[in-house]
Amino acid sequence: MNRPDIVLVVLDTVRAQSLSLYGHDRPTTPFLEQLAGRSVVYDRAYAPSCWTVPSHATLFTGLEPRTHRVGGEQASLESVAQPTLAERLSDAGYRTAGVSSNPWIGPAFGFERGFERFTCGWKLIQSGVDVASESITQGGQPVSEKLRMALRGGPRTALATAPNYAFARWRRTGRFAPARLAAALLKHRQELGSGQPFFGFLNLLDAHLPYVAPRSTKGLVGVPDGWQKVPQKAWPYVGGTQPMSEEDFEVLRRLYDAEIRYLDNVLRKFVERLDGAGRPTMLVITSDHGENIGEHRLMDHQFSLHDTLIRVPMLVRHPDGDGAGTRLDELVGLGDVHESLLRMAGTSASGEPLPGPLGGGRRTAIVSDYLRPQPPVSRLRERFPDGDFTRCDRTLRALVRDDGTKLIWASDGAHEQYDLHSDPGELRSLYDPAAGTPLMGELEAAFRESGGEAAAAAPSSTEDDEVRAALESLGYL
Ligand SMILES: [Zn+2]
Repeated sequence: MNRPDIVLVVLDTVRAQSLSLYGHDRPTTPFLEQLAGRSVVYDRAYAPSCWTVPSHATLFTGLEPRTHRVGGEQASLESVAQPTLAERLSDAGYRTAGVSSNPWIGPAFGFERGFERFTCGWKLIQSGVDVASESITQGGQPVSEKLRMALRGGPRTALATAPNYAFARWRRTGRFAPARLAAALLKHRQELGSGQPFFGFLNLLDAHLPYVAPRSTKGLVGVPDGWQKVPQKAWPYVGGTQPMSEEDFEVLRRLYDAEIRYLDNVLRKFVERLDGAGRPTMLVITSDHGENIGEHRLMDHQFSLHDTLIRVPMLVRHPDGDGAGTRLDELVGLGDVHESLLRMAGTSASGEPLPGPLGGGRRTAIVSDYLRPQPPVSRLRERFPDGDFTRCDRTLRALVRDDGTKLIWASDGAHEQYDLHSDPGELRSLYDPAAGTPLMGELEAAFRESGGEAAAAAPSSTEDDEVRAALESLGYL
């Protein structure tokens, strides 16, 4: 059997509703719309959580966050006994490489596990202490602390770290990263893939705060002059100390759109080159979670399981053109992608593949988890003593049913219920505390079925635990 190459692209922080592929009124994804003609597009794809670590852990293990617990009590993918996608595909005879531009998805948190090669996009030199978190932090540790960490690793580490630190700072405005990283993955394939099938993973972080985007794509989505004046600090806004107007958010939404359009341009060239090699390739393009840009009085992608954060794009191009041009409205999740890629490689775990050419069934509901606030609320209170983060201090679970009803369970009792057909923006909660809802029982049953009982007692914020220590040591908090 001639097995295809498999390439999995995660457009980090890209919500489905901001793609013209999904009906957005600004032209953010002309290339993906073309590619849709050769692919299966899933209209109701859901992320298993609202942020990077638990979502990628599901993609890599096929387990839901309430089972793998990574991004909850577990800081690292190393804690999961199950083999990872890269490990399973490696066992099945694939050569494997990962390229990530998100420091969460790297060696510090076990996400390089199983990959023969792993390129950290935030490093100019692939060694040294991993201090280069500037592109994702909302204000990291002082430089002196980073240098102290670098020196702790000895002179050789310090030599690599200084240029890496400078590189990470420059990259915030440099923005050549996605094309460079896409090229790095193609190079890995060229070097590893002759004679054996190849699995490649690519994470591109450009849609993450801060939104800067190149001038060329800002013009295409109408970003106004003076955009630099709009604050882009999420936590002061969330805590209520940085007021933002609807006009400010409109500017930020256009900037975000410009980032997506930029990614679309990068993907166009990437897929051209991918196909130029003439190797049959299964290509999956999806995201780990979305973004709130003023919706639900939030910014960034925490403290909420609304569709802005958990409904993601998903497009699968089969190597033999199966299902080309179809759009499916079945509920699907990132765990299904895991199983689908294994099936394509002629192997399997225990999951269900995606509906469509791989034959997955229609499910009645899908569940997402928010195991703990990130950053911990205690940390937010320390950093922003004047802010009010009470509403952030809770865990969440969401149930989305095939009929479009949705329940968001909250550990503080402020549950929400929506009809996504009549209220896709989730603006009017239908939850009646006095009457309750049968959806609650359904959510509990779904949790029990997927081994989530332990989640009932999950703490909302814990001081001095392993997660916090790991993140602080890297300057993420
Ligand atoms: Zn992410």
